[in-house]
Amino acid sequence: MDSKIAVIGAGTMGHGIAEVFALGGYCVNLEDFYPEVIERAKREINESLSKLLSSGKITRELYDKTLKNINYYNNIKDAVDGAYISIEAVPEKFEIKKNVLSEISNYTDGIIASNTSNIRITELAEFVKKPERLLGMHFFNPPVLMKLVEVIKGDKTDEKYIDEIMAVAKAIGKVPIKVMRDEAGFIVNRVSAPELLVFCMALSDSDPAGIDAFFKSQGLPMGPYQLFDYVGLDTVYDSLKYYAQELSPDYGKCKNLDSYVNAGKLGMKTGSGIYRWENGKAVIPEAAPSEKISLMDVFSLEINEATKLIESGIATPNDIETGVKLGLNRPFGPVTVAQGLSSSDVLKTLNSLYEKYKIDVFKPSSTIINGKLKEAFSPHKAEKARDENTAQKYIIFEKHENTGIIKLNNTKNNLIGSGLIDELNAVLDRISADNDIHAVLITGNGTNFSAGADLSQFINSPYAFMEMSKKGENTFDRITKMNKIFVAYLKGYVLGGGLELALACDIRVSSGDAVLGFPETSLGLIPGYGGSQRLPALIGISRAMDIILSAERINAQKAYEYGIITRIFNDDGEAQALKLTEELSQRISPASVYTAKRLIYGTSRINLDFESISMGMLYGGNDLKEGIRAFMEKRSPKFGGN
Ligand code: NAD
Repeated sequence: MDSKIAVIGAGTMGHGIAEVFALGGYCVNLEDFYPEVIERAKREINESLSKLLSSGKITRELYDKTLKNINYYNNIKDAVDGAYISIEAVPEKFEIKKNVLSEISNYTDGIIASNTSNIRITELAEFVKKPERLLGMHFFNPPVLMKLVEVIKGDKTDEKYIDEIMAVAKAIGKVPIKVMRDEAGFIVNRVSAPELLVFCMALSDSDPAGIDAFFKSQGLPMGPYQLFDYVGLDTVYDSLKYYAQELSPDYGKCKNLDSYVNAGKLGMKTGSGIYRWENGKAVIPEAAPSEKISLMDVFSLEINEATKLIESGIATPNDIETGVKLGLNRPFGPVTVAQGLSSSDVLKTLNSLYEKYKIDVFKPSSTIINGKLKEAFSPHKAEKARDENTAQKYIIFEKHENTGIIKLNNTKNNLIGSGLIDELNAVLDRISADNDIHAVLITGNGTNFSAGADLSQFINSPYAFMEMSKKGENTFDRITKMNKIFVAYLKGYVLGGGLELALACDIRVSSGDAVLGFPETSLGLIPGYGGSQRLPALIGISRAMDIILSAERINAQKAYEYGIITRIFNDDGEAQALKLTEELSQRISPASVYTAKRLIYGTSRINLDFESISMGMLYGGNDLKEGIRAFMEKRSPKFGGN
């Protein structure tokens, strides 16, 4: 392979991009204008790789190889000499980018990519020799963790380079999406641009703390105004200004941030903004949740913007969906949301937002006016099937002879969200259909089995919550019904949804460091996905009550004494658990497994009829909202018992 990559600018993004390519086996020349920045980049790359090594995400061999793969430079000419791809990650200033790109193009014949967040590739191409080789390769921060890369075509970019960069991005473990025209905001920022505007407009006549309280009660880690302060009010202001120039003058109509920016009250970084900030935390006044801006408003604006991207041929529905999910860390994007909404409701919501604010950007697109929403988003399904290989992988699955190995693989402590459950279902389909697989090991990638369910999921009604609970419950229950032995290897955190998955397995073994628990009752919930039923069936009502009602964690030794786990492996536990699973896959008859599981589980008192309905009921009450809010804000909850 063409193996040399040059990265110009070793700041926040540049050093991360260099690390990603080096981890992917490329030889990277990382360059910065300032020698001290190079020293900092070296330190940061070292620290990041050490973390990956100590959490078991990379091997010692890959760690050593990656460090050797990066060379540091202090001049562009030498860094880009002979490079297959040169990527600039210098500051977002047109003058700097223009000069750096021009210099790069003087010294390399390879592909040139810009990591610009906003500047049009077509404008930058003016300064590049052979502009057909310039394109956008927009990584998200931090590049090592964020899977998404937007690959952007300028007017002059040769399509063949776009395809080549898409393939390279996949090869380094990223999920690339194609931006077929370089309009401001590309895909991800563009879809969320009208939200910035509506929240800015709403500042005139609403209480930000109330709106934030509402969005947090929906499971978001921060409300929109806390987020404004967090990223910097100047950044939000500049984005709106830029969109006003490039997309629609209406983005310039909101004046509510001007006084903050003029007074230097920029949010977290200056200690005050919409809120006061102390020690990196916003001091948000107590406020009753306000739906002045509702979830339906936000969803409708995103769906509307997505249809505009499709109408103008900038992006496909599937790329928009993937972009919003991965770029904004959401369980689903506008295409999925639209499937559960009627076009007329979206139309009504957009019309009323327009009536209220008189902002053209909020006007429904012709797709929505003509009732063609479902049609416009429909290619999603076909593309989804085609792109399955490039989608986020929450589950790593391998087969060795008669053994299947499932590893939960969510970078966020293997939290279990809707996407992970979908993938688990697909893997279970595969295992179920494969008569050669007799035993399956389930564990987590990295140090933890799973720290629980993903509470940051955007769930908008008790019914949706009940449905999601039912989906997880049904998925885990499939494990108990197969003629295969499922062995769970527990390590690190085994909490909430993680413990529920473990309880659905037939045999649980553990490392000495595992910590088990059901935190749900301290959040205003109950253990779901079958957990409320399986734990008492397994260890008796008395001990199960203690674990569920105290929400306290227990260690591996206690879990062993209670009979939740049956073996503790102290050294090289994962290898021992795998060895056990492999032995069982060779020695034990699947027909006997099926019969034993049917008899044993059939006589246990497990009733899954009411658990998910109870979840839906709890969702409708106030305790859960308070519980999740308190959890996110790291304080004790104040439950009212309703
Ligand atoms: P940064 O300021 O952290 O890093 C830029 C680096 O470029 C600095 O280290 C600086 O010393 C170096 N530099 C400046 N002039 C140079 C020159 N002539 N030659 C070589 N190096 C030079 O900025 P950043 O946040 O890494 O952003 C870089 C690019 O990535 C911008 O276009 C930005 O819009 C984009 N981006 C940033 C983020 C983010 O969250 N920070 C996310 C996606 C994209």
